[in-house]
Amino acid sequence: MKIRNDWSRAEIQAFYEQPLLDLLFQAHQLHRQYFAANTIQVSTLLSIKTGKCPEDCKYCSQSARYDSKLEAEKRIAVEKVIQEAQKSKASGASRFCMGAAWRNPHERDMPYVLDMVREVKALGLETCMTLGMLNASQAERLKEAGLDYYNHNLDTSREYYSHIISTRTFDDRLDTLDHVRQAGLKVCSGGIVGLGESREDRIGLLHELATLPLHPESVPINMLVPIEGTPLAQVEKLDVIEWIRTIAVARLIMPQSYIRLSAGREALTDSDQALAFMAGANSIFSGEKLLTTANAGENRDHALFQKLGLSIEASKPSIKQLSVDAMLTV
Ligand code: SF4
Repeated sequence: MKIRNDWSRAEIQAFYEQPLLDLLFQAHQLHRQYFAANTIQVSTLLSIKTGKCPEDCKYCSQSARYDSKLEAEKRIAVEKVIQEAQKSKASGASRFCMGAAWRNPHERDMPYVLDMVREVKALGLETCMTLGMLNASQAERLKEAGLDYYNHNLDTSREYYSHIISTRTFDDRLDTLDHVRQAGLKVCSGGIVGLGESREDRIGLLHELATLPLHPESVPINMLVPIEGTPLAQVEKLDVIEWIRTIAVARLIMPQSYIRLSAGREALTDSDQALAFMAGANSIFSGEKLLTTANAGENRDHALFQKLGLSIEASKPSIKQLSVDAMLTV
């Protein structure tokens, strides 16, 4: 299958509506054309500044607008970040992600984050940051400092977006992704399912991602973790099979991207996770915490990998088609 960025919503919908086993079969076959079989990329994620975020994302415990009982923390010292990065490397992670609860980094924050990138990079880890919206100059400086990936999720479909956040627009998000791409950074962008959206919205989210000029190299497909005090605390839980379908469809339309199981993984059984890997997920966040929500711990992950015969991808990607240029659609 050639790499396409001209998918229609109708085509994506048709993938979704197939019998599950047909969908899984196709997704896994395609997965093996682009990635080494039985191999999972592992990242860790550290919150470098927690809580008191001015944005109003309705799922997020870090928004200052909701009473989620989260304990806010100021910026943590670069030395502490380096210690955590060293531990992650020792446990097998190839990528270290650093997240700050900001609308966007202020100029006064830039020397802090740039130092951090340089030092983590010097450990031989891939670096990733998620700091909110970026302007072009900030993206360029992060690239110069050695940042590999920038995470900025679209969250949901354009149509459902206003139900989830009002303090930045969908187009603001696309602008940040554009600055990141133009600076030569790799893009990590995905969304969240289980926000109360319809399947049509999940199709819309995947359609947005798969019709970007270049597919994101990394696509996190999160499942909402409802948090008391946030507006989505009582939202109806999405069936896990629908999450698995979303992963499989993402694999089919973005075959060269790493599809990441992120938030929500802690609640999955081993069998659910095996099904997600069958569907084409090939990246996880490891560690006890994902910014502020609980995550499957390292020990559980290693036991699961052993049970399933999976190995952890080394720092060098095993993707068979490495060139970003090759991701340009024709
Ligand atoms: S998701 Fe990010 S931007 Fe939105 S409230 Fe949470 S920390 Fe702020």
